[in-house]
Amino acid sequence: MGEALKHLYAGTLPSKSVAITFDDGGYDFYRSAYPVVRDFGFPVTVYQTTYYSDFPRPIFNLACSYLLWKSRGHRLQAAPELGIPREFDLSSEVTRRGVVNHLHAFAEQQNYSGAAKDELAAKLATLLGQDYDAFCASRLFQLMTPAEIQELSSQGVDFQLHTHRHRTPKEEALFRREIRENRQRLEEITGKPATHFCYPSGIYRLEFLPWLRQEGVTSATTCEPSLVRAATNPLLLPRLVDTSFKTSLEFESWLDGTGALLARRPVSARVNHD
Ligand SMILES: [Zn+2]
Repeated sequence: MGEALKHLYAGTLPSKSVAITFDDGGYDFYRSAYPVVRDFGFPVTVYQTTYYSDFPRPIFNLACSYLLWKSRGHRLQAAPELGIPREFDLSSEVTRRGVVNHLHAFAEQQNYSGAAKDELAAKLATLLGQDYDAFCASRLFQLMTPAEIQELSSQGVDFQLHTHRHRTPKEEALFRREIRENRQRLEEITGKPATHFCYPSGIYRLEFLPWLRQEGVTSATTCEPSLVRAATNPLLLPRLVDTSFKTSLEFESWLDGTGALLARRPVSARVNHD
């Protein structure tokens, strides 16, 4: 990413260049994606959050959502000690999302640490009759550990900023603390500078830009689907987010440039002002 941007703004980037980035730094990147990009010889950047890298347990919200989905044919009894106020039928996705919201709100209200939230997820698993230890051992919804990041960094994977706790507080001091803690951990682990940033969940606000500049961040990537040009603000870089829901045809349309023509609105029109 850094190399692409250097050439972009120097006017020396070959046409039809592609920069490949991955968000979050999940264990699935280490296990499944990295071997593929390594075999192709593609250089890649990973925007790595670090809280759950240092705390090797499943990411709370995703874990709860998955456990409920696995029990989708069942009912969940009321459990006020977990913040679940009444019985829920888990067959609908909307209801399961509602239960996750209850669990999340309960953990926030109790000011739970990561460890306490993990215990809450374990209690949910027990309530659903599932084996939480086996779930943890699978490493689903877990991030790469510092040792795994270090290993891939030494093989050339570029690790960059994505906040420590995967969030962008609206308060300047808290926002900047997220960047600093994330950078400190990444630079300790990799021994390399981290100056490129990706907005968690693609959420960005114009007031973030000066805060990022003050933290020495030189680029920031959104999830707005468009192509980057020399005139693009480096703190509002668009990109195509590829997921399992994208068809091959759609993906190919972005590689030949026509996808960008069909994209909805330019980045500048969609900045969140509220
Ligand atoms: Zn993310």
